[in-house]
Amino acid sequence: MTSAANGADAGVASPVEEAIAFRQWLADHHDEFAHLRVLHADADERVRVLKELQARLYDAGWARLGWPSEIGGRGGNILHRAAIYEELANAGYPPRFVFEHLEVLLPSLARFGDPALMTELLPRMLSGEETWSQGFSEPGAGSDFAAVRTRATQDGDNWIINGHKIWTSWSKWAKRCLLVARTGSFESRHRGLSVFVVDLEAPGVTVSPINQSNGSPELAEVFFDDVTVGSTALVGEINDGWTVAMYLLSCERGSFAWQRNTFLTRRLTELAERATDPTDIERLGNSVADLFAMRVRSWSTMLELAADGSPGPQSAVNKALLTDAEQYLFHTADRIHPGGFMWAQNLREEVLQEELLFSHAASIYGGTRQIQNITVYRQLVAGHTRTETDEYVETAMAAMLDPAGAEAGLDTLGFDEVVGDLGDTDNRRAIAAVFEAAGRTAQPTTGLARLLESLLGGDTTLAVATEHLADAEVRLVVDVNQTTAPRIVLATPRGWVSVLSSDVTWNEATQFLAPGNMVTGVVDISEAPSFDAAVADRAEAVGRWALACEALGAVDAMFDAAVNHAAEREQFGATLNSFQAVQFMLAESHIARTALREACSATGRTLNGDAAMITKLLAGRIGRRVGAETLQVLGAIGFTQEHPHHGWFHRVLTIDALLGRSAALARELGTRLVRTGKVPLGVDLSELPGASSSA
Ligand SMILES: Cc1cc2nc3c(=O)[nH]c(=O)nc-3n(C[C@H](O)[C@H](O)[C@H](O)COP(=O)(O)OP(=O)(O)OC[C@H]3O[C@@H](n4cnc5c(N)ncnc54)[C@H](O)[C@@H]3O)c2cc1C
Repeated sequence: MTSAANGADAGVASPVEEAIAFRQWLADHHDEFAHLRVLHADADERVRVLKELQARLYDAGWARLGWPSEIGGRGGNILHRAAIYEELANAGYPPRFVFEHLEVLLPSLARFGDPALMTELLPRMLSGEETWSQGFSEPGAGSDFAAVRTRATQDGDNWIINGHKIWTSWSKWAKRCLLVARTGSFESRHRGLSVFVVDLEAPGVTVSPINQSNGSPELAEVFFDDVTVGSTALVGEINDGWTVAMYLLSCERGSFAWQRNTFLTRRLTELAERATDPTDIERLGNSVADLFAMRVRSWSTMLELAADGSPGPQSAVNKALLTDAEQYLFHTADRIHPGGFMWAQNLREEVLQEELLFSHAASIYGGTRQIQNITVYRQLVAGHTRTETDEYVETAMAAMLDPAGAEAGLDTLGFDEVVGDLGDTDNRRAIAAVFEAAGRTAQPTTGLARLLESLLGGDTTLAVATEHLADAEVRLVVDVNQTTAPRIVLATPRGWVSVLSSDVTWNEATQFLAPGNMVTGVVDISEAPSFDAAVADRAEAVGRWALACEALGAVDAMFDAAVNHAAEREQFGATLNSFQAVQFMLAESHIARTALREACSATGRTLNGDAAMITKLLAGRIGRRVGAETLQVLGAIGFTQEHPHHGWFHRVLTIDALLGRSAALARELGTRLVRTGKVPLGVDLSELPGASSSA
């Protein structure tokens, strides 16, 4: 396989190989490109530098990687582009700004645009010669985008456009605009819209920049007064502009979200330099988890796009996750900076101030946070009755409900053999399913104990929680009857040690919130021998992942119960699910559980320690959140022993206390970030599906 690039077309290698070659190329040009890494507060200067960078990348073949040859690309797909964006951000190049539109507009243009016109125009976008803007919103059509009034009227072979667009980002620098106009009646709403390419320098176009509240003149109003475009300017079919617009939004929420995530990862690294307050450090750890969820989620969307799919409303989840992650991160930035960014003393702080203010708009542009909730509720939640389960989970559920008990069910499944070979993909899916099923059925099982014993070697288990008392005394919790595991491994400040069960003073009277097989005890560790760290780390990672899968099962069960309750119970003469406040709670829960599902799957593929730790953190946070939100939807009935909600909720709260509480894991991740200056990604590019295969 060959990799890029010297301007000539080379064969396209896998995204991982291309990323390595690109990293080397950037390193070779490090000094020469120093001026291209400088942040500029002045937007004109920023655009000038970014255009130069884009041209250099184009000439060397990198900006053409991942795009089809018909539009001047070198082949490959969206995953290759993702790899390039990550390397650029890692190497300290500034956010893509006007070139973010490449990922928003170009895929739709390449897919739906007139082939000859696109062959002529799109290479100019890739080379940085032209930037474009996106003309959707109007004074009377914001969230209600189907209310567009700008009209395109057919005149022979041409179209005449009249109307007024607003909030058209980056039009100040744009050569062309991808415009949505009405070609049908106003009453036909979204069925009467079409999409056109319009030259912003054509007669009849007036671009009037608007200063954003953060000082940047990025927005604009664009007026169209009898502007003529040819028939090839039509993108997609007449009156089918909605299809183009929806595809565009999927791309925006896949590759754009990834691109934005790489930028936020970079900012998180920089923030860590200043953090000293423990709360801020914990917040940094939470951001690590947010970015991990975004990373694996946007990668899944890009995988679907690479396979020529159209993720549709699913992508609204990505936008919601991105918005929340960005705003949380910049709130932390605001807390960490001594002046809360209300004053900026140098260029870097000036740019950060602008970015902090811009993060407030993340819940407005690209469809507001509320509109994402409406989309999620209407398209993904309404009509839902039960979370879909695959055959693995169905089989595991049957085992959990075995009339002879869950233990007998695990034996029938051959659980001990399955956990003995974690290298097998099928086995990992089966294990995830067992824990998910345990969560859904709120069944106490010895699944975790068996898993840990298998990983640690005969008759040894791991303490699932510890509390360091005075002197060398430790209170520990084990998830198995102490008589069956003579040796217990536990984490201490001097590393992993092991103690004998017979040396522990057990407290049989401890009341656990959720049923399990757990006991607590106190032991002196002053003489405890150390235990093989690699083996213990591995057991801890796998255990964390398994518990996160169990939390996911409980979260899904709570969600199903709340959705069904809201569909049945009436108040004020209407079912609860007719109230937007209730719909939004369910949408929020759905967004959160989608992130947890992605995290569990990604971790199940690698079982690496960082991914497991982050996923366990997310499980604790999301479990608590969905538990509280679904209880709110259920009302008083959900707060009873009679309703099963308490079983699931107590289980997720208990899971959060095992093998690392979410708050403690966030502090640990944040502390590591501060110490090393590196964001733990959880999964490297090479661990993401499809990243190691050639297109
Ligand atoms: C920085 C920035 C860049 C932008 N770039 C572009 C661009 O390049 N191209 C482009 O076309 N547009 C762009 N926009 C416009 C953006 O798409 C709109 O601002 C957005 O769709 C919301 O429309 P609006 O501002 O008119 O708010 P409105 O629709 O008036 O909404 C105001 C508030 O009411 C809420 N709301 C509205 N309807 C409902 C409902 N049914 N239920 C519950 N709540 C509701 C909204 O969530 C929001 O909180 C940009 C906006 C910003 C801030």
